[in-house]
Amino acid sequence: MHELSVTQSLLDMSVKEAEKAGAAGIDEIKIVIGDLTGISEECVQFYFDIISKDTIAEDAALSFKRIPAAFRCKKCGHVFDRKKLMFNCPVCGSPGVLIGRGKELYIEGIEVRYDGDKTG
Ligand SMILES: [Zn+2]
Repeated sequence: MHELSVTQSLLDMSVKEAEKAGAAGIDEIKIVIGDLTGISEECVQFYFDIISKDTIAEDAALSFKRIPAAFRCKKCGHVFDRKKLMFNCPVCGSPGVLIGRGKELYIEGIEVRYDGDKTG
């Protein structure tokens, strides 16, 4: 259910921006998702297909950019991506602590199209 409300607000935002720009339709929506949000891309895509019907975003493709969570080493300060079963600093081997990265959730940009050449 969480994904549904997230997808709804991503859709609303994209449609609003596209309409403001006078676009006839949206071709692509670029979404950035941090690993720590727990949002599944498949779920967002699934809900988007349903709720975008009869909006100008109906045919839009979604592209996702995943931001991995990151650790900072307590000993040497090295910052490294979180990987499965890997919590220790690759430089010195000390355990790392989670830092704020990975909570991102926003639209990086949208590609729109215009009804430019059908005025006559
Ligand atoms: Zn280290």
